[in-house]
Amino acid sequence: MSLSDAELKGLFTKTGALLTGHFLLSSGLHSDQYFQCALVLSDTAAAERLGRELAARVPPEWKGATIVAPALGGVVIGHETARALGARSLFTERKDGCMELRRGFTLSPGERCVVVEDVITTGKSTREVVSVLKGLGAEPVGALSIVLRAADEPDLGVPLKSLARLPAAAWTTLECVLCRDGLPLVKPGSREKPKAA
Ligand SMILES: [Zn+2]
Repeated sequence: MSLSDAELKGLFTKTGALLTGHFLLSSGLHSDQYFQCALVLSDTAAAERLGRELAARVPPEWKGATIVAPALGGVVIGHETARALGARSLFTERKDGCMELRRGFTLSPGERCVVVEDVITTGKSTREVVSVLKGLGAEPVGALSIVLRAADEPDLGVPLKSLARLPAAAWTTLECVLCRDGLPLVKPGSREKPKAA
């Protein structure tokens, strides 16, 4: 049985992953919401469940493909999704800012691959993985993510399937209504623990 949007949001809230407050995003913009996917995945039962959910979204033409996830964010969910599919699970990582397939991982010419991410916002890292796979002669066929943080699907070069769409409000410092209200700005990942949604 597939997870409903309400169940999914319940899972995010329960694990403290979906936060409300006043956040400085990595883009430099401010938002009233932050989604820390690592917190959902720290619950191993939830991680396994989400992997099975993503595996269930895989269309027949993606079946049998190798899972490739960008480190760090994609590694846990990539592994869980691959396990649910009985597929091989690889990851790419950055070296000097460049996405690469390392650790002795190899792909056969024409090997079909699906990119798995935790969160997709602009789709930059997914596009980088797609490009790495093509460069190695493999065939990226699709992408999966737990959450899509954009109102519109970014162009990834492959079709995307996400479990949830949670578009984030993002303002410049000048536009930010929370700055105007004098609310302290929190950089997610910092020591200060924001209030759960
Ligand atoms: Zn602000």
